[in-house]
Amino acid sequence: MGDDTANSSRSNSSGKVHTINSFGMGRLHHKNAIVTGAAGGIGLETCILFAKEGANVLMADISAPALEKASAKLKQLVPSAHKVEIQVCDVSKEADIKALVEHLDSWGGVDIMFNNAGIMHADDADALDTPEKIWDLTQAINVKGVWFGCKHAIIALRKHNKTKGSIINTASVVALVGSATPQLAYTASKGAVLALTRELAIVHAKEGFRFNALCPAPLNTPLLQDWLGDDLPKRHRREIHFPTGRFGEAIEQAQAVLFLASDEASFVNGQDFVVDGGLTKAYVTPE
Ligand code: NAD
Repeated sequence: MGDDTANSSRSNSSGKVHTINSFGMGRLHHKNAIVTGAAGGIGLETCILFAKEGANVLMADISAPALEKASAKLKQLVPSAHKVEIQVCDVSKEADIKALVEHLDSWGGVDIMFNNAGIMHADDADALDTPEKIWDLTQAINVKGVWFGCKHAIIALRKHNKTKGSIINTASVVALVGSATPQLAYTASKGAVLALTRELAIVHAKEGFRFNALCPAPLNTPLLQDWLGDDLPKRHRREIHFPTGRFGEAIEQAQAVLFLASDEASFVNGQDFVVDGGLTKAYVTPE
């Protein structure tokens, strides 16, 4: 109804289509956003969309060369981007996250925090074979890193007297359904992301701070594709579960993150936001 008059799609100077609201601004106009794991599949696509929609973006990742490459790609694709900066950060180290969030103090403070960095280690296995050091590493990045991101976003939102903020934490569909091919440390870590996100959403709702968890299904990104490698049976065991017959694309996750980050999602809080092509609703048998 009102959508047609409130929003329209136009081409920007680079010929790419993005959404313009009735005030001629992007959906994230003047918002300050941090994205962790920004050099990876979901992270970079999200940074590109955020920049197209008018946000100032701080791209964070553990890999400096990957960050350089990712930000160059963003600037090439979105020449009209406002502010785009990069910062190397290990999300499992609180000092790194604190410095990352405080970097935005001079921008007016963080409005959107996308705690997206995560690992699925090649040595992750079942209850018997997962090495303890792999368990600890996975929880340090996937869980503690998300906690630190949430913690410092809350501190900054309060410091800057913000009455709204959006924090999005990347979980996974394996937090909702068991994975028959074991990756126990990863699965447990993503379950923890869902649980902590839900609780923070309730605790901070009256402050206007929203917390939602993104639950992607397996995607065409390096994280999964490198892990599957040339192992066709391993790949087939996953593809067969998709009603669509295909893995998801990172851009399809980024579109959901954009919605959760924007004021259009102002009443969406505490959700396990599933973007999976119907995978978790399907009863699929081999053809
Ligand atoms: P990706 O490997 O392409 O990107 C992950 C990024 O995180 C990389 O750029 C990596 O350098 C960075 N990173 C790793 N450790 C870090 C650390 N300690 N501090 C900061 N950055 C670090 O993977 P992706 O698919 O874009 O994954 C993004 C998120 O989505 C992850 O949390 C992942 O668990 C989740 N996810 C991915 C899939 C999938 O199939 N790809 C499915 C469900 C959930």
